[in-house]
Amino acid sequence: MPDEPLTPETVPDSLVDFSPSTPSVASRHAEGTLVDKYGRHVTYIRLSITDRCDFRCSYCMAEEMTFLPRAQVLTLEECLRVAGVFVGLGVTKLRVTGGEPLVRHNAVWLLEQLADLPGLKELVITTNGSQLERFAPALRAAGVKRLNISLDTLRPDRFREITRVGDLAKVMRGIDAAQKAGFGRLKINTVMMRGGNDDELVDLAQFAVDRGIDIAFIEEMPLGDIGHPRQASYFSSEEAMTRLQTRFALLPSTETTGGPARYWRLPGTATRVGFIAPHSHNFCNTCNRVRISARGDLYPCLGNNDAVRLMPLLRAHPTDDGPLRAAIVRGMGIKAQGHEFSRRMDAPQVVRFMSMTGG
Ligand code: SAM
Ligand code: SF4
Repeated sequence: MPDEPLTPETVPDSLVDFSPSTPSVASRHAEGTLVDKYGRHVTYIRLSITDRCDFRCSYCMAEEMTFLPRAQVLTLEECLRVAGVFVGLGVTKLRVTGGEPLVRHNAVWLLEQLADLPGLKELVITTNGSQLERFAPALRAAGVKRLNISLDTLRPDRFREITRVGDLAKVMRGIDAAQKAGFGRLKINTVMMRGGNDDELVDLAQFAVDRGIDIAFIEEMPLGDIGHPRQASYFSSEEAMTRLQTRFALLPSTETTGGPARYWRLPGTATRVGFIAPHSHNFCNTCNRVRISARGDLYPCLGNNDAVRLMPLLRAHPTDDGPLRAAIVRGMGIKAQGHEFSRRMDAPQVVRFMSMTGG
């Protein structure tokens, strides 16, 4: 399949083309698993199946976005091939994300195939919820284990303002449909914004309690040029905890979902509250994940611009996974020790949008 020319805004900063003969950059490949040069095992991939979205959240995207031409996006078959190779290398958890994964045509077909990969234990999705009313039962039947649903406000007018185009009622119906379909451990993801939704954090936690679901509060990250400064909207996890403690007792939990969130239990409820704090608490030393963008670039670290381009290998070797596998193994060698998001939010520290890499 021919590759279309790249536009400047679609070219990641530093891409590495690994051919099968490229010497290893220091990764170790122990007994069929992926290990980086700091000894961290990679067992979790986040696969972005589209950079497109039906929302335009103001912290995630610019108002006018240029999306990738179709030929520059992995086909669903290519997504499956990449995932299959990772699972063959010991990956046990796969999150499908985007952009909005459920706006990709035939996403459910892909999920069914992914769920069948031998060795994959957990198939999960992150979604904005807009399509859940329609797809929740099919996702469950396909073998999706858990859903993370993004929800930054409970107020319809504010929802429209933050997402620029979204309809809160539709997302609420989507959450209902997901619960009705039997997704037990739903989790709400809330990006905290000073002056945007910080006055609703307690209400959002209460919403999670009332629904018997989990909630994670996320600090805004400086990813992509969204056309306006982020400095003023940054809201820290510490401050959010203080707000929550005005209504709830927070009990530290030793539980982990294998992600960067640190969890607290709300006694007398089924709800866990997580805080994802890339600025305040560095979680890099236990990082077990890598990301694959919609155009097939392997990003070993969300907070770093280094990537390995997989699409040319997929297309040059349509029936031989060997070169792809070799590139993935070598790609572990460029996984950064840690990201350095500082509190400087006035300029993007990573050039690509979250929707590009897959949040
Ligand atoms: N469209 C889906 C959604 O919104 O859930 C999946 C993709 S979205 C990029 C994944 C998560 O990233 C969402 O929870 C979103 O709120 C979060 N996100 C996007 N941009 C962010 C940023 N700059 N900082 C922190 N979180 C961000
Ligand atoms: Fe779309 Fe998710 Fe980004 Fe919002 S956060 S614009 S829903 S990809």
